[in-house]
Amino acid sequence: MLNAIWAYPWDVLDLGIERCVMDIAGRAGLDGISLACADSAGRFFQARSPLRKIYCPENGVIYFRPHSDRFGRLVMRPKMAEIVNERGDVLNALLHAGQRAGLAVNARVACLHNARLGRLHPHACCRNAFGDVAEDHLCPSQPDARAYAVALVAELTAGYAVAAVELEGMNFAGTLDANRHVTDGIGLTPEDDLLLSVCFCPACLARAAGAGVDGEAARVTVRRLVEESAARALPAPRWPDLPVRGPDAFAEYSALHDYLLWRCEPVTSLVEEVRAAANPAVPVRFIAARDGWRFGDDLAAIARVCDGIVLCAYDAAAAQVWRDVDGAMKAAGGKPVFVGLRLFFPELDGAGKLAGKVAAASEAGVAGFVFCDYGLVPAARLDWVRAALERSGVARPAA
Ligand SMILES: [Zn+2]
Repeated sequence: MLNAIWAYPWDVLDLGIERCVMDIAGRAGLDGISLACADSAGRFFQARSPLRKIYCPENGVIYFRPHSDRFGRLVMRPKMAEIVNERGDVLNALLHAGQRAGLAVNARVACLHNARLGRLHPHACCRNAFGDVAEDHLCPSQPDARAYAVALVAELTAGYAVAAVELEGMNFAGTLDANRHVTDGIGLTPEDDLLLSVCFCPACLARAAGAGVDGEAARVTVRRLVEESAARALPAPRWPDLPVRGPDAFAEYSALHDYLLWRCEPVTSLVEEVRAAANPAVPVRFIAARDGWRFGDDLAAIARVCDGIVLCAYDAAAAQVWRDVDGAMKAAGGKPVFVGLRLFFPELDGAGKLAGKVAAASEAGVAGFVFCDYGLVPAARLDWVRAALERSGVARPAA
């Protein structure tokens, strides 16, 4: 089993690499760290940083140095974060420290969720049924966005000996995600969120048409359903069982149903292209949400074209974690399934709940865990991680 924790570059730099390695390998009993190497913006409370308590990173930058001219002919190009210029190549330093300490260093990359690139290249962004541009998310159908994602992972894995790459948000995005700050006065329901997030950009419509799917007809349906929702005095979900039924809830709207299923094609084929262009020695894993169908994830198809799945079971209770892992493992057809568990309060209110989730996933046969997130939680919760892993017999031995 290989267990790691997600971390941001500024956390590693603020706390110091040696401290970070001691915390992760020694205190938490983990085998690896997964560093955010390409990410979007945010506003983070820095629980343990001795330098600050709030950090607002640059939007849509990368935290490694590109070495080749791989991006020279592309429409979209990466921007290296200022903190790498100012404070050094944190990924490279972490790789050296990890090698000394026997700590695997993975890279987590968000290629499509990028408002910097979205503002520079609105033609490549997702567009809802009303034509509104989601400038913080590039569309997985859009050729320029695809070329950027493929080149970024290829560049990273050619220049750095990371143990694995984790693809974050390499799909369509929801409208009401926590980091998108949509002010909603009507009480949008999960089905409204889904309908508003379905992309009908020209690239999607053309790609769907090529597959014999009538995106325009689906768009008309989505517009009508959303207009109906917006006209209600109070929220009234039409499909309260949506999480259970998935896309089949929309079976009575055949064009929309077909379009929702079709969305898996651009996502899966992009993962396949990214995997093919990356360094063959580096496993490429796909980070999936529990209800990933909403974002175009077909776990079985994705697992066939990459090297593993990281299933985020953040808000699931232990019994649900077992079912989710079991389902994902069956879909993954022998490819490793890792579980992402968040250490956030109030989702996690003590060591016992974490131990229960870890035990459930271990029992289901998970390949390892990734915990969220090193710099955002008090150090005491690293002890919860070790206790949970020890209870399941999967902790790294204490030094
Ligand atoms: Zn699109």
